Amino acid sequence: MSVYVNRSLNLKQVSLIGFDMDHTLVRYDARAFEALAHGLAARALVGEKGYPEAALALAFDPELSMVGLVADKRNGNLLKLSRYGKVKLARHGLEAMDFREMKRVYQNVAVELSDPAFLPLDTLFAISTGVLYSQLVQLKADGAELPDFATVADDVAWAVDTVHRDGSLKKAVRADLPGYVIQDPLVPSLLERYKDYGKRLMIITNSDYEYTRALLEYALDPFWKRHGSWREVFDLVITLADKPRFFEQPNRFLKIDPDTGLMSNHEGSVASGLFQGGWFQPLQRDLGLDGREILYLGDHIYGDVVSIKKRCGWRTALVLEDLAGEIASLEAAAGLQRDIDALMGRKEALEERLNRMELDRYEGRGTDRESLDALFEESDRVNQEISGKLTAHRAFFNPYWGEVLRAGQEESRYAGQIEGYACIYMTKVSDLHAYSAKTYFRPRRRRLPHEPS
Ligand code: IMP
Ligand code: MG
Repeated sequence: MSVYVNRSLNLKQVSLIGFDMDHTLVRYDARAFEALAHGLAARALVGEKGYPEAALALAFDPELSMVGLVADKRNGNLLKLSRYGKVKLARHGLEAMDFREMKRVYQNVAVELSDPAFLPLDTLFAISTGVLYSQLVQLKADGAELPDFATVADDVAWAVDTVHRDGSLKKAVRADLPGYVIQDPLVPSLLERYKDYGKRLMIITNSDYEYTRALLEYALDPFWKRHGSWREVFDLVITLADKPRFFEQPNRFLKIDPDTGLMSNHEGSVASGLFQGGWFQPLQRDLGLDGREILYLGDHIYGDVVSIKKRCGWRTALVLEDLAGEIASLEAAAGLQRDIDALMGRKEALEERLNRMELDRYEGRGTDRESLDALFEESDRVNQEISGKLTAHRAFFNPYWGEVLRAGQEESRYAGQIEGYACIYMTKVSDLHAYSAKTYFRPRRRRLPHEPS
């Protein structure tokens, strides 16, 4: 797979490469992991919040949600937004919201993600949240005794948060690493290459040390050619970083003893070693690097990309696993897309003729009623044909939500964030393996609306 470029990035100028761990340096089988989270979270809701037993029988359907959606807590809906925050698709429970109803509720709304009435579902770790929320909203619509939609949203977020934090999810993953974690030998190979080119390597993860160690030992350690373990390869590892807070607010660094995992207070430089917590300012000071010399790769559009770009001025890379399927579907649907483009061209030509006739009528030149009717009929036929082709096109993608990076003809909010904040993006870290450590990534020149095609 390729690396896609929004802003030029010269790897020669990058002297430190930082990685997020989960879903970046370490890949998961997201479907298996989220099915597990979904089941555990449902159990927590029934066991601790008194939700009906029916929640335990909910089968996990990963397609009910998607990276980049937003939950509207007040109305119990999942939403897909355009890059301008307009609602382009909405589902209530397991049903698509009626188009007219959607217009009525959201016509005048531009969703601000900072509004606490909305819950962004920004990573693969949030798939279980979106799926469970939709299913519970449906249970409520079917008559189950459940709290109001906003409380259900808060409860689902609480349950997923709890199973991530209380060790139940991580214990199950550690007991069956091959069942949840994907080993990719190209990643260790890439890291050793970067070291040979004199790059410093860093991890900043929200996972705790014990879990980080277990995952890195499984995912990376069997494949080193010139190193014994991940500890020799990474100059600096920061665990329980609490991103995005790590980039926003002061916090103390604790030093970790790599063998025992015990922590102690830390004074002095944090430019190398193994730490828990802390925050970015002393890190940047001790590294002695300009933001432009640091490249950070992560999968969380807000915690790993937007916040870093806004606060630190580092170079950024987004890892978006769903992109692989999206590109394959785009290729499979390319013929259909060409048909849609051709029909859109016809539609525009018809509209132009109608507009010319309207001008004639206004300026008293008269119009021919018959040709006007014929144009309207032709226009209806083309619209119907477009509509059918768009439905067929949608079937190549998520059956409920369509493409991740488009909302109808427009770019999705998620695509807008990628374009605005990620210098480069790719489906997985090992996609970089095909590029030398001296690559100059250059964006394609984009055509503006006024420029001739
Ligand atoms: P990172 O991607 O390496 O920064 O780490 C992600 C960490 O956050 C993993 O340990 C996840 O288990 C954890 N995590 C993901 N979602 C949640 C949540 O909703 N609540 C608490 N922890 C989470
Ligand atoms: Mg991550």
